[in-house]
Amino acid sequence: MTADLPEGWNRVRRVVCPGSFDPVTNGHLDIIGRAARLYDEVVVAVLTNVSKQALFTTDERVEMLREVTAGYRNVQVTRFHGLIVDFCQANDISAIVKGLRAVSDFEYEQMMSQMNYRLAGIETLFMTTNPLYAFLRSSLVKEIARYGGDVDGLVPELVLVRLRDRLESLKQAPGPGGTR
Ligand code: ADP
Repeated sequence: MTADLPEGWNRVRRVVCPGSFDPVTNGHLDIIGRAARLYDEVVVAVLTNVSKQALFTTDERVEMLREVTAGYRNVQVTRFHGLIVDFCQANDISAIVKGLRAVSDFEYEQMMSQMNYRLAGIETLFMTTNPLYAFLRSSLVKEIARYGGDVDGLVPELVLVRLRDRLESLKQAPGPGGTR
């Protein structure tokens, strides 16, 4: 049975999943995949954050994300800097999709979502994390991998390889990494 929908009801629903993705984890991928099943188009936007010391350059992060999301026809990966609401307005994006891992995420995310709504009327939609990845964040993965801990199953296989390579090359040539 089809409903008699008003004009414009079926307009494209393009959403954004923003983040640092340094590097992309299976927790990120879970949210991106679920968003891709719910919305017509999902833009994964990698923040170029000049004040944050990253392990991978923005281009490397974008490239890894493109490879691991290649199976989704409605997912695009790009980079952005500045305010996410400006990015949304420039790209006809009506909502930001975020994953909520724990209550500790909530306070910050609530503040950001209210600010973004006030700035530009952009909505934020929250998905609770897959319990398998509730403890997972990129910074923790890097920290564990740095000390030789096992992060198998927490990041996609290709990220695992690049993470090991990068940490190995840093061990051999330590020093300031510069802003990435
Ligand atoms: P980090 O992974 O270090 O928290 P990011 O900025 O890369 O930082 O994360 C981007 C967004 O991805 C987060 O704001 C959150 O919405 C979502 N996210 C990250 N990790 C998870 C996870 N394990 N489960 C659900 N959502 C997650």
